[in-house]
Amino acid sequence: LGGQADYFIKPKTVEQLKDVVRRCNENNIRIYVMGFGSNLLISDKGLRGAVIKLEDEQFAQIEFDGEEVTAWAGAELSKLVLTCVEKGLSGIEALTGIPGSVGGAVKMNAGGNFGDFGAAVESVTLMDGRGNVFEKSKPELAFDYRRTNITAKFILNARLKLNAADSEQIMRTVKEIWIYKKNNQPLNTKNSGCIFKNPRGVSAGALIDRAGLKGLQIGGAVVSEKHANFIIAE
Ligand SMILES: Cc1cc2nc3c(=O)[nH]c(=O)nc-3n(C[C@H](O)[C@H](O)[C@H](O)COP(=O)(O)OP(=O)(O)OC[C@H]3O[C@@H](n4cnc5c(N)ncnc54)[C@H](O)[C@@H]3O)c2cc1C
Repeated sequence: LGGQADYFIKPKTVEQLKDVVRRCNENNIRIYVMGFGSNLLISDKGLRGAVIKLEDEQFAQIEFDGEEVTAWAGAELSKLVLTCVEKGLSGIEALTGIPGSVGGAVKMNAGGNFGDFGAAVESVTLMDGRGNVFEKSKPELAFDYRRTNITAKFILNARLKLNAADSEQIMRTVKEIWIYKKNNQPLNTKNSGCIFKNPRGVSAGALIDRAGLKGLQIGGAVVSEKHANFIIAE
């Protein structure tokens, strides 16, 4: 689903990323950043420019220091949640069942009925479109419904402040959230969602459902029967 990009680049280190950014700038190549693509719909016309995905080596790291965790942008969110549960660290179990990368979760302030990622983020390391690396910490970071005030091109990592807790208790919460999501979202298909943000006080999925659009198919894109705010790729 979706067209091709001119370039698809997966740098393995911050230094390599700087190099890629410099070369894109020198050649006037537009840069697009992707995480794991769970909230992206790419036009069939594709993208003119370079898509950069941070998922390998340095970008996949998760570093623990007591109740502080530094999660790099390409680390898998579900792996981060489960590793924290195993280590008895509470604070991000609300993210259970949300696909994607840490970078995507920061950018989108991923979350839902049970809480959001931003609540655990103390600081982020960022890179701008010129390759400059800098930090932004909590007083100057704002997380809102599916958005942040981060405008830098790349989120490199996020430092989280979690709380020591009983692993078994956290795991019980994780299971409850997982069952809720499994019952309400099309987790076993190739899909993207939620596609539309909720208007204030109303569920976008419920509105789409009420408009009778569940099951609507255009090309390879189908509105999910399970949750109308998800589009499934056939
Ligand atoms: C089945 C399913 C269930 C979902 N449930 C939820 C849910 O309950 N709650 C929720 O909030 N979301 C949910 N989502 C949406 C999605 O999982 C989240 O938005 C997720 O955080 C996106 O992460 P990603 O790595 O896939 O980002 P992508 O989809 O690849 O990118 C999303 C945005 O983040 C930007 N981005 C990604 N990485 C970086 C980076 N390192 N630096 C700068 N910008 C970056 C991209 O440019 C893009 O603008 C769901 C999606 C699916 C398919």
